[in-house]
Parts: sequence; C-alpha cells; structure tokens
Amino acid sequence: MGRNLGSLCKICRRAGMKLFLKGLRCSTEKCAFAKRPYPPGMHGKLQQTKESYYALQLREKQKVKSMYGLLERQFRRFFSLASHSKGATGRVLIQLLERRLDNVIYRALLTFSRLQARQFVRHGFVFKGNRRIDIPSYLVNEGEVFEIRAKDSIIKMIKDNIDINSKERSVPQWLTVDKSNLKIEIIKLPQREDLGLPINEQLIVELYSK
Ligand code: SF4
Repeated sequence: MGRNLGSLCKICRRAGMKLFLKGLRCSTEKCAFAKRPYPPGMHGKLQQTKESYYALQLREKQKVKSMYGLLERQFRRFFSLASHSKGATGRVLIQLLERRLDNVIYRALLTFSRLQARQFVRHGFVFKGNRRIDIPSYLVNEGEVFEIRAKDSIIKMIKDNIDINSKERSVPQWLTVDKSNLKIEIIKLPQREDLGLPINEQLIVELYSK
C-alpha cells in the first residue's frame, strides 16, 4: 500500500462512490462523499459531459488502486502477475489484491481501514506459526493460519475494533476469525463472485492491454 499524499475523500468523490479509505469516519455523517456526492473542484457539481470510454477505464483503475492503497508501480506489478497466471486476468487481479495480508487483516475486522491494516502488519503484530510476517503485500494461501501477538493494550484495542466493525461489516466466507485467540484462518482462496465488489475489472484489463 503506497502513500497517498492527496485527500482521500477526493478520491471517493472522483470515483463516484464511497471507498471507505478513512475507517470509522466513513460511516459517519462527516463523510465528504455523503455531504458532496459529486467530483471535487470548482465545476465538479456542474459536470454533465459524457465521459469518454478511456476516462471510464482510467477511473476504474484509479478506484481499485485507491481501494487497495497501491501506487501505480505496485498495481502494475499485480496486473503483470495476473496476466501471466492461468484464468481471466481481471478475475485473477482482484483475487490477488484480496489475498494481500493487509487486506486480510482489514477483512477480518481487526482494523477500520486497509491503511491502518498496513501499519498493523508493518508493526510486526502478525505471525504465521513462529514466523513474523511484516510484509503487507504477502499473499495468503489456503489453509494458512495467522495469529496476532502484541502487548495486552493492543490486543484489547483489536478486540474492541472487531466489536465495532462487526456492526458495519461481516467477515467474508473465505476466512474465519477466532476473536478470543485472535487467529485468522484462510479457509479457501477468495473467488471473484464471493467478493461482491463494485468493480468492473474488464475496464482495467482493456486499459492496460492497449
Ligand atoms: Fe471516502 Fe467518505 Fe471515507 Fe472520505 S469519509 S474516505 S469520502 S468514504
């Protein structure tokens, strides 16, 4: 997940949907998209011209890149991985992005955003067996079990996060979370149809295939 120095809320407004980049704030009335659901800028509200197909493709790519917090170079690397894998490139791309460890921590409800999940992994709280995994882009595999090890105050904070997050989101079916022991198991690899994400990955494939 790369560092984005611009306004995260402007990314949502440009994408035309909530991307939940700021954690808790996104579910409150302070959400900038809820208040101003039109593109940023002086003329954002007045923009009525029909977007070109290229603009649509570009917007979809920026949306997915921002959702997973990746820089262009990192996103390209994932696309290249997907295009060299078996299966439809777009579907594989989304599956690879979902398999990132920072995404798994977010999906398991341990944090409020993927950005926070990335810091969480970087701080070294995630273990696979006795091995510390502190690489946010680590790709999880079926059958792997991850455990959170940290001081008591952090463990308490994570359990509180799970309680709060579970009111807004649920853990996807491809993983399980043992809240008392803070263990996450990857039951199966995420499939595109399980994800229900508002993404048209075909537009991204077409953009990069030009
Ligand atoms: Fe997007 Fe709203 Fe969250 Fe800002 S607060 S990042 S606009 S969902």
